Amino acid sequence: MLVSKLFTHTQKQDPKNEEAKNACLLTRAGFVYKNMAGVYSILPLGFRVLQNIRRIIREELQTFGAEEVYLNELQNKETWSVSGRWNELKDVMYQFSDSRGKDIGLATTHEEVVAEIAKNYIHSYKDLPKGIFQIQDKFRNEPRARSGLLRGREFEMKDLYSFHADEECLDKYYQKVMEVYIRIFGRLGLDAIITNASGGTFTRDFSHEFQVISENGEDTIYVCEKCHKGKNKEIVAGAGVEDSDLVVKCDCGAEMKKKRSIEVGNIFKLGVKFSQAVGLNFSDKDGNRNPVIMASYGIGTTRVLAAIAEVLSDKNGLVWNAETAPYQMYLIDLTGAGFGLSENLSDVVLMDDRDASPGEKFADADLLGIPYRVVKSKKTADKVEVKERVSGRIEVMEWDKFLEKLKRE
Ligand code: ATP
Ligand code: MG
Repeated sequence: MLVSKLFTHTQKQDPKNEEAKNACLLTRAGFVYKNMAGVYSILPLGFRVLQNIRRIIREELQTFGAEEVYLNELQNKETWSVSGRWNELKDVMYQFSDSRGKDIGLATTHEEVVAEIAKNYIHSYKDLPKGIFQIQDKFRNEPRARSGLLRGREFEMKDLYSFHADEECLDKYYQKVMEVYIRIFGRLGLDAIITNASGGTFTRDFSHEFQVISENGEDTIYVCEKCHKGKNKEIVAGAGVEDSDLVVKCDCGAEMKKKRSIEVGNIFKLGVKFSQAVGLNFSDKDGNRNPVIMASYGIGTTRVLAAIAEVLSDKNGLVWNAETAPYQMYLIDLTGAGFGLSENLSDVVLMDDRDASPGEKFADADLLGIPYRVVKSKKTADKVEVKERVSGRIEVMEWDKFLEKLKRE
């Protein structure tokens, strides 16, 4: 791809209507556009990253056979009334009546819908376990939307829903998802800490959050430096102790350190709350009817995009790894001789063909966060200068050698 042909271009100044670092960087680099507080469009370069995030999640979820679905975003009031959440979520859910006077909501999440659908297909223990997932928008009327894409009013989430006959099956599945999540966040370049948190309204035990340490995060967690596990502040406070005096111990005995963090994922055992509400029952081996046991597992895909921008960036701009990067290399030819690119590279290469100064091109390569900047100049003669974005390391090597190195990685 030629830089001159990109739909977007970079901006030197931070946008005036943003406070959050992720939104400033992503806007300056031309990855996103803010329409109003908490509402963003994802532009071509940002969309390539989002597609990579989606791809990594899809690949990993396929390992245990969860099937992807595309669920309705417009919600009817009846579906949400059986669980009581039409009223409970009044402040969070966008609700309105259409021109026929019918009450409609925009999906804040999809538990009610999947439970209702599953009723048609789950009748017996032989139909269990099952898992379906979606990668779709959720709408939430968040009171504060000042954290850029970390907290959208319209945002994208991967949500997986699982259905089980008994607790043992649920526990096994839940454990597996946890392992898969660690692999997903590893590939995304995020060090996610498994954190015990409250289960919200519907669980007996903890839910588990996946938290990334970040000074701009909205959450506070306590982290064990020994076993790298976390506890959310919400479950350790409340004992009437002053926050500053709180000494929090990990289950391993070590003291935990207080940190700001970003919740990139959250998994819940839902129990029978939704299945009971909608009447999602199955017959067990003895012919008894029982409610199906459910769990849900979220990852904020657009929040991940923002989290990477928050925690991996540096003073020069964004930093993507090889898996998430919109393009793998940013080429700058200062000789006029060209790189002699083969066609099959065009999807991984950004070629800066603009009539701009070398300095401007170098700055943009850094701001966009492309893993490798490759420069051909008088100085490099028949070789190229390769700069690794993440480390800043520079090496002069043969172009073919560099391509081979990339292939190996
Ligand atoms: P938070 O506590 O941050 O408000 P939540 O616990 O309400 O989030 P869940 O319902 O658990 O969120 O959603 C699953 C995942 O979706 C979260 O872990 C997060 O990554 C993402 N997410 C939730 N709310 C938002 C939002 N407003 N904007 C972007 N991503 C979000
Ligand atoms: Mg959560």
